[in-house]
Amino acid sequence: MPKHPFVSKDRLVDIADHVPTPFHLYDEAGIRANAEAVLDAFSWNPGFKEYFAVKANPNPALISILRDYGFGCDCSSDTELMIADALGIGGSDIMFSSNDTPAADFRLARDLGAIINFDDISHIDFFERVAGPIPETVSCRFNPGGLFRLANGIMDNPGDSKYGMTREQLAQAYRMLADRGAKTFGLHAFLASNTHGNEYYPALARILFELAVDIARETGVRIGFINLSGGVGIPYRPDEEPCDIRAIGEGVRRAYEEVLVPAGMDDVALCAEMGRFMMGPYGCLVTRAIHEKHIYKDYIGVDANACNLIRPAMYDAYHHITVMGQANGPDKSRMPASRTYDVVGNLCENNDKFAHDRELPEIETGDLLVIHDTGAHGHSMGYNYNGRLRSAEVLLRTDGSCELIRRAETPADYFSTLDVLPVGRALIERTRAQHASDS
Ligand SMILES: *Cc1c(COP(=O)(O)O)cnc(C)c1O
Repeated sequence: MPKHPFVSKDRLVDIADHVPTPFHLYDEAGIRANAEAVLDAFSWNPGFKEYFAVKANPNPALISILRDYGFGCDCSSDTELMIADALGIGGSDIMFSSNDTPAADFRLARDLGAIINFDDISHIDFFERVAGPIPETVSCRFNPGGLFRLANGIMDNPGDSKYGMTREQLAQAYRMLADRGAKTFGLHAFLASNTHGNEYYPALARILFELAVDIARETGVRIGFINLSGGVGIPYRPDEEPCDIRAIGEGVRRAYEEVLVPAGMDDVALCAEMGRFMMGPYGCLVTRAIHEKHIYKDYIGVDANACNLIRPAMYDAYHHITVMGQANGPDKSRMPASRTYDVVGNLCENNDKFAHDRELPEIETGDLLVIHDTGAHGHSMGYNYNGRLRSAEVLLRTDGSCELIRRAETPADYFSTLDVLPVGRALIERTRAQHASDS
């Protein structure tokens, strides 16, 4: 399927006249349509709830959009909890699915009344010691170990994953939690990331449904909600089929009707913690070609770098690129490929490449490029290597207007934690003054 940007060239040129590149741009209309499709796909389950995985994109303006659909937040750190709290999201609208959890994070999660999803059996004692009594509603994370296979091959390797509890620990954890006053119990597992096809959730659901039935028989603990977590993928490549969330919902429904209903567990609520699927396709990184270089290969240097989008450098991930062109030039998004480029950033790291040997229309200095599918794990994985600064984020509203939802970092932001040193305070002062006179 060919990939098209969600913004026209003319509109993009206009936005880039107001917000300097690079920036991440988000598509409110796309986020809303997808959120509605998710609700629709699981509407057969009255208790269904999506807890958006905040780590994928913690911008409060975007979380607020999802809030319109009743979605909660899946948080895994204290700052993610603070964001949810600041948006008025609390109690059972927060799923706290953390691991290797610091005491302060458990305390804040408990204060906010979040549902604690225990990653390990030892965390139960730890939680009581550092955060207080076990809450009435709790959840446990399962790790089946071994390899996770579906009909079409190995999906992932849970045996090598740090998350969750073994089958034996899980039963013991539920007994401990029940003894300590818990009344409502959840079951969670996350076995594969960025899955393609529509088989992952249904297969995971069947595993968890059967497990919930076994746990009830073995321990007397009744599982009230089952959390399919994240893992639903998106088509980063133009030749990949998007997941069909309706087909996924129907597959989960079949497993529900075949496993839970006959066991008398037809009141189990389902939840999900999708991050990538909720936001990934509805963001892009907008950057401008600032150099071309011809040595043993042809390079296009852009004004973004891996600090704005680390996935290609970190996972060798593919991100599609559309060349848009510039204000008075041709709309290059319609032109066929005619050159082979490496598209690179300015870090002193040779893995700072958004594309290797990519066939693209001829690029000229000044052209705007759209790097697709950066809505999840784009800005949120940003960092400051080489003293590079994280970009702005802009929201394209459904009415066509644009809103700056995060400004770009300034040198003063970068130096701000050096305020413990006299030279640091001087740097902050100097860069602030510079920034003020520039703008
Ligand atoms: C990362 C993560 C998610 C979201 O995963 P996606 O693949 O982005 O949907 C959900 N839950 C937990 C606990 C996670 O760590």
